[in-house]
Amino acid sequence: MPGLETKQIIKRYTGKFITAFSLNKSTKLSVILNYHSVHPTHNFATTPNDFLQQMEYLVANFTMVSLPDFYKLRIAGKSLPDRLAIITFDDGYEDNYTYAFPVLKQFGIKATVFLTTGFINGEVDITEKDGTYQDLKALTWEQVREMRGDGISFGAHTHTHPILTEISLDQAEGEISRSKKILEEKLGEPAGLFAYPFGQPKTFNRNIIDLLKKHGFKSACSTLWGCNNSNVDIFSLNRIRIDACDTFHDFKEKVNGKWEFIKWIQALRG
Ligand SMILES: [Zn+2]
Repeated sequence: MPGLETKQIIKRYTGKFITAFSLNKSTKLSVILNYHSVHPTHNFATTPNDFLQQMEYLVANFTMVSLPDFYKLRIAGKSLPDRLAIITFDDGYEDNYTYAFPVLKQFGIKATVFLTTGFINGEVDITEKDGTYQDLKALTWEQVREMRGDGISFGAHTHTHPILTEISLDQAEGEISRSKKILEEKLGEPAGLFAYPFGQPKTFNRNIIDLLKKHGFKSACSTLWGCNNSNVDIFSLNRIRIDACDTFHDFKEKVNGKWEFIKWIQALRG
């Protein structure tokens, strides 16, 4: 993702041009939002107040659906209803329970959380590998089960959060199958949803998708930027990442398809 400075430069020089060619409010779009941490003081977290304001806006302006329901709509083969919004969280930080879950309950939003199962088990600390979310704790399985009881769904995000294309296929298969098995044992239900760690263009490919299918996954989220139309590949769902530095204005532009230029930046970077 571009840093703050890069983002400002991009906006300064391309914002008006791109906005003119972006989706407008009447365009059919389904937007899958990608959060990580909701925390009052962490530098890279969305604050609970911002999260509340963002959920209020979505509920007022979109039809909120769960990711499992979006999947069912997508495979039904009909065109998607207009302006659907889906909430997802990656990794499994404890603040998803402490700060986001009460807001989700308040609005009846059925979010999906993608768990790095080794992080939840206390076997790996993914915040050490990637300094962004340093010092954040993992959800506990008890918290996961409580959230599940209130309609939050859970998907797999590997066991140790590697870039799947940078390890052997055997290792990738181990990461995929292990996270699915643990999730199913802990929740007592099939796990059909997956999110690729990092999720950008070079972090998954056809071989990885074949492994997901082999192990019974039904759909996977990337972090390829963009809204989703009725033809989107269910193993490469696009998401809109929400960052700590987003103003409310940025948030509204992002979910209304005004930042589609990030898609082209991702494609150029590969
Ligand atoms: Zn992740």
